[in-house]
Amino acid sequence: MSTPRKSSRSKTVPGKSAIRKTARTAKQGAKEAKGSIGKKSRQKTGLRSGMWRRVVIPLLIVAVGIVGWATTLTWAYRNTQLPQVLRDMVIALVAHTKAGEDIPIDAGLINYSGGTAQDIDETWGIETNSIWLVRQTMQIVPLLYYEEIGGGIYPDGVIFVPYLGIRSFHVGGTMDCRQYAPRAVPICLVILNERYLTDPGWNDARSLLSTLIHETIHLQGGLFLDDPNVQDWPTQSAHLEAKTSAATMEALAALCNYQNEIACRAFWAEIESMARATLRYRLREAPWLYNGFANIFLRDGIDERTARKSARYWGQHQDELYDILNKYQMTPYENMLLVGTKYGLPLNTGVLVYDEFDSDGNPTQGHYLNMPWDDTYDLLGFWAWWLNLLTPI
Ligand SMILES: [Zn+2]
Repeated sequence: MSTPRKSSRSKTVPGKSAIRKTARTAKQGAKEAKGSIGKKSRQKTGLRSGMWRRVVIPLLIVAVGIVGWATTLTWAYRNTQLPQVLRDMVIALVAHTKAGEDIPIDAGLINYSGGTAQDIDETWGIETNSIWLVRQTMQIVPLLYYEEIGGGIYPDGVIFVPYLGIRSFHVGGTMDCRQYAPRAVPICLVILNERYLTDPGWNDARSLLSTLIHETIHLQGGLFLDDPNVQDWPTQSAHLEAKTSAATMEALAALCNYQNEIACRAFWAEIESMARATLRYRLREAPWLYNGFANIFLRDGIDERTARKSARYWGQHQDELYDILNKYQMTPYENMLLVGTKYGLPLNTGVLVYDEFDSDGNPTQGHYLNMPWDDTYDLLGFWAWWLNLLTPI
């Protein structure tokens, strides 16, 4: 019943059908219109997503990358030893170039007389077997005074000696003060290894000058000779040698800034040596890494053979080796020179000098010397910035 009614309705109301048709047409039109609007909006969205793909996302990736890289670097700077390793590899290469080759010692200039003493009238009262050694000492002692390292103390003698036994290979020099009764004051000798003059492997004026300065600094006393706060000898020795090696650097830099070319090259040779010793100490769990670096960049064939020769001995004395590297090179370099130049902190020498005296000439007032790092800083130039940057202390 309902169907015919429906059909009858549709049939009997032609106007309504026309309306429906019109409505249908309008719907279709609307649909088509919608479709076209949809296409247009899809085109716009496509443009936007293209911009996202091509510009925004890559930018975001780069930004995240930069932040990640900076975070990693900051973390590595604070929590790893990488900055120090990079620092010392680069400075070792730079210093190696600036230090140049060994400077042969001019035997004629040194006038070494072995076991026979030189005429003391020619050497200002200082016992010696080389007038050259006395002349050098006469330049070094006033320099130490000028650089606020020492109080101007001269040795009683400065001599070359052939050290005995294993010391012959391992000791460059010593400073020896001994009391001989009935004298009230000790006799102090600066002693240098004769190998500097007789062994081709040691023949280097840079190294001889550094050792002579080092031993003359011990002679100035203070914390270069004794540390009253330390009782046991190993710690005492570590303190004395580190301070003395540190002050030697400033003395070499000062001499260099006074146009002593041997001192300039000795300074860089010592910087190289300190950086390499520090690197070697830091990489002691992976010695092949240090040796690989040194063999590729710093050693020629002869140096490599010498290094292997030396390694065969020190391989049996590892603890002693790292102890020596630490006290003569790593500690003075990292804890004194680098910190001193970075923060402008002078080296406390413990050397007391007197400024005022009573009418009998007895001292009444004095002050302790603090050695500034000004010449070292000056000589390092740009590399002071590099060292400071990668010294995260
Ligand atoms: Zn020493």
